[in-house]
Amino acid sequence: MDTETLLQKSYTQIRAAASVPPGTQARTLPLSSAIHTARTSLNPLPTTPLGPLPTLNHLTNTIAPALPGHNRSGRYFGFVTGSTLPIAEAADNLATAFDTSVQVHLPEQSIATEVEDVALRLLLRLLHLSPESGLEKAGEDAGIEWEGRTFTTGATASNILGLACGREEVVRMRLPDGSEGTVGEVGILGACAEAGVREIRVLTSMGHSSLSKAASVVGLGRRAVKELPYSEAEPWRLDLEAVERELKRAEEGVACIVAISAGEVNTGRFATSSLGEMRRLRELADQYKAWIHVDGAFGIFARALPDTEEFAKLRESTAGLELADSITVDGHKLLNVPYDTGIFFTRRSSTLHAVFQNPNAVYLTPSGSGPTIPSPLNIGIENSRRFRALPVYAVLLSEGQPGIAEMLARMVRLARGVAHALVSPDEKLNLRDDYELLPNSSAAESTHVIVLFRARDEGLNNVLVKKIQDSGEWYVSGTKWKGESACRIAVSSWRVNVEEDLEFVKSRLASIAKEWKESGR
Ligand SMILES: *Cc1c(COP(=O)(O)O)cnc(C)c1O
Repeated sequence: MDTETLLQKSYTQIRAAASVPPGTQARTLPLSSAIHTARTSLNPLPTTPLGPLPTLNHLTNTIAPALPGHNRSGRYFGFVTGSTLPIAEAADNLATAFDTSVQVHLPEQSIATEVEDVALRLLLRLLHLSPESGLEKAGEDAGIEWEGRTFTTGATASNILGLACGREEVVRMRLPDGSEGTVGEVGILGACAEAGVREIRVLTSMGHSSLSKAASVVGLGRRAVKELPYSEAEPWRLDLEAVERELKRAEEGVACIVAISAGEVNTGRFATSSLGEMRRLRELADQYKAWIHVDGAFGIFARALPDTEEFAKLRESTAGLELADSITVDGHKLLNVPYDTGIFFTRRSSTLHAVFQNPNAVYLTPSGSGPTIPSPLNIGIENSRRFRALPVYAVLLSEGQPGIAEMLARMVRLARGVAHALVSPDEKLNLRDDYELLPNSSAAESTHVIVLFRARDEGLNNVLVKKIQDSGEWYVSGTKWKGESACRIAVSSWRVNVEEDLEFVKSRLASIAKEWKESGR
């Protein structure tokens, strides 16, 4: 079979394996028999090669049925996985078909770095981070640039960039004038010794677990991450007074990175709640030479919701994030582009260069006309890189600001619908008798895309997540809240149908509780 025929056949066969006929719901989990079949079919490297066509059949007939429904079901509410918009899938196929490596800016040889840069600028607009977004019209925050910007493999990688940039700058700011002994040049031990820094701390509130991983990777250590919860009732909020106390330890040789959880992955809540709080943090950071990093993996998309009263509270909670020094954004979650796509912004390109400069081989030096765009290999972790900007560019072009705002609004409406159903009296269902909305009963008002709850009956609560997952009809994550099992719904797919999915979730929760009681347990 010739190459073109094989590839045409592969697209057709893959779509057939992945398709979801209209009016039907894909399973959220594969049948365990399908996983078993796939497992027993996994071949060692064959002595007689299988050949492309039998391999394609093996992939679509045996492997595909053993994969979960992240992208195929709007009722996969686990983790915060997102799905893939069809236009993003198409763009991703194109990226693979051309297998371009976006590594060096070569404007006369490829448009790829320019597409990447345009995609990043459009994202800045979408998230109201760029000066052109209207912020300057209000006479505020003008001149904030995000000239340090790049695509990463996800929020974990972006958090590594954030802590690496923070580490670089908090030490550099303390070096004697004229010293070139930065962390990037001489390493953390030498640079800290010269700068008189004996400890670098990461101050946060319910920081995502990947923040600790990032702290380890960049040489600060997982124990550098210090939780400063506002209160026991609102542990996701950052205690600004405690932050100030920590920052004051600058005199003792302690340098700090403030990591803002926007939002927190269990509750979807935000570490700061207003522009005023962010301004205060900015003042403190400037005064004590600290770095502010925002982990906005999914939460920052609250800034792209429609500009209406319905979402005013979420906008308030995410106001002022543009005052940070660096920001993590995920693409493969709420933006609904494929894995693995993350984004990182920082104010100055020089910070990224200081950390990620790949001492250039002459053949990698960009040349020629066209816009000056830094070569990606000098501002991020990888050298060879996937063209993961293309699906992002395609989504922004295809959906535009209004289309993305509407997609995000659907996610919030479903999550809020579920949250309200868990606390509201209802003649038929009365879910509130059997379930408890967390972290408190007033959480419905501030719900973004995550709903945290538990069954009131302890026995049911212990098996609730498994019961839902085993159904194959929908999927939720299990988590702990204040030491007890809890259930988490994260709405993150473009496939969400607010009315139908809300009715579905309500009726399933009701029937699970009813069956539990009837079974006499
Ligand atoms: C998901 C998530 C991460 C990790 O992101 P990956 O894309 O899985 O690497 C980090 N921070 C927050 C807040 C998240 O929700």
